[in-house]
Amino acid sequence: MRIPLDFESAVPLYQQIESYLRQNIVAGNLLPETRLPATRQLADSLGVSRITVANAYAELESDGLIYSREGSGTFVLAPIAAAAPVENNASAPWPLWQQNALAETSALISAGHSPRPAGHPNPIAFTGVADPRGFPVKDFYKAVRTVIQRDGVAALGYGEFDGGYRPLRETISHVLASQGIQAQPDNTLITSGSQQAIALVCQLLLKPGDVILVEKPGYNFALELFQTFNLKVVGVPMDENGLRVDLLEPLLQQYHPKLIYTVPNFHNPTGVCLSGPRRRDLAVLADRYNIPILEDDFVGDLRFEGRAQPAIKALDQKGSVIYVGTFSKMLVPGLRVGFLVADGPIFNRLVSYKRINDLTTSTLIQRVMHEYVTVGRYQLHLRRSCRIYRKRRDAMAAAIKRHLPADVRFNPPQGGLFIWLQLPQNLSALELLPLAAKEGVEFTPGSRFFLNPQEGEGYLRLNFATQTPEDIEEGIRRLAVALRRLATGGGS
Ligand code: PMP
Repeated sequence: MRIPLDFESAVPLYQQIESYLRQNIVAGNLLPETRLPATRQLADSLGVSRITVANAYAELESDGLIYSREGSGTFVLAPIAAAAPVENNASAPWPLWQQNALAETSALISAGHSPRPAGHPNPIAFTGVADPRGFPVKDFYKAVRTVIQRDGVAALGYGEFDGGYRPLRETISHVLASQGIQAQPDNTLITSGSQQAIALVCQLLLKPGDVILVEKPGYNFALELFQTFNLKVVGVPMDENGLRVDLLEPLLQQYHPKLIYTVPNFHNPTGVCLSGPRRRDLAVLADRYNIPILEDDFVGDLRFEGRAQPAIKALDQKGSVIYVGTFSKMLVPGLRVGFLVADGPIFNRLVSYKRINDLTTSTLIQRVMHEYVTVGRYQLHLRRSCRIYRKRRDAMAAAIKRHLPADVRFNPPQGGLFIWLQLPQNLSALELLPLAAKEGVEFTPGSRFFLNPQEGEGYLRLNFATQTPEDIEEGIRRLAVALRRLATGGGS
């Protein structure tokens, strides 16, 4: 056991040993029934006398934190004893540099989010993203075995530093071609989720204080990312056709933004799609004002009905658009495989930035992904997901109409994962949250998607993709009960 001792300190050595053990017992790092080293052994390894260790053990024993068993040694006691206070730790201030770091970095919007109250035995969560339960784990496992047997240690090295595992980049370009996006393996970079792709673009193109235009409301973790880069985020309003591109030109002239970030398909959190004409206008404006567009297409292919609009990237002839995609929602998020497509010399710079961030995305996972994802299988999985999610979307829309008051407003989306609800006048989703949790239903409050959380208080985001139609019905019924409580002021 390595106990840090300060031989110069005025605190006696036995107390230093005692205090170290006490803290670890109370914190649960030393579990009940853990055998402590014999006094002679610990004394030898610490370079102290045996009596010093014995004194420390005696203090702990008299406080009921350890006990000795004749002939077998000294053991940690079960936690009732752990009530003893840990004076040093609880009152000691953290180092000044930590306090400075907190003061100098911005508090993120999620930090202000109320903690989830505990309690309901069977909560229904309309939070999160896609439903991983539909993922064929057995087939994936087969792909893992195939790769390890076939590639051996080659699957366990760093792999390619020039953009990722080339065969996977080829597959991605085929998948994208089936959606009208012309990507080549040479301009496709594998990233650790699309979140990393967004971060790389920010690192490369923006410096603190630069202006970025984003949809308002916007994807929460992108907003937080922009905040941590100390960017000046300017929100552009949306309507049922997506970003109000008609409002952009004066903003471009006023702020000279360095980037426009947009989620044009089944936007997070609102679920709306950017109309075809607006996509064209946006591509033209970006070109005219020499501003790059970061197109985040996180669930673009999860369309249940209606006509798909071309990707903005597909409308861009000049390399103004950097396109970002992910396997997180179509397959599973935990593999952390996303990608970006960029044209022109900027691509190689992005490749270098990827390298300095995390060297490479897991070689094994890239190879397994390549083994698993064929264009045919991807299309099959897509059709299946769309079929299941469409039913869930319908179930949620019907349940909202059935159970929630008529003045709750929402537009059922044509695909994706989310329904965005507007509560009746003056009701706050943040106040609804604990009441809903008590009834056993969870949602994401709208304030998470605004830089100024107050602007989102009247909204909430419901994920319909992760629950069965039966649970959706029950969850919305519970939400209705909570909403009635809130509306009648019956908080308890
Ligand atoms: N973009 C949007 C709009 C998202 O909602 C998410 C995750 N929920 C991401 C990007 C990042 O996903 P990932 O890193 O898993 O690809």
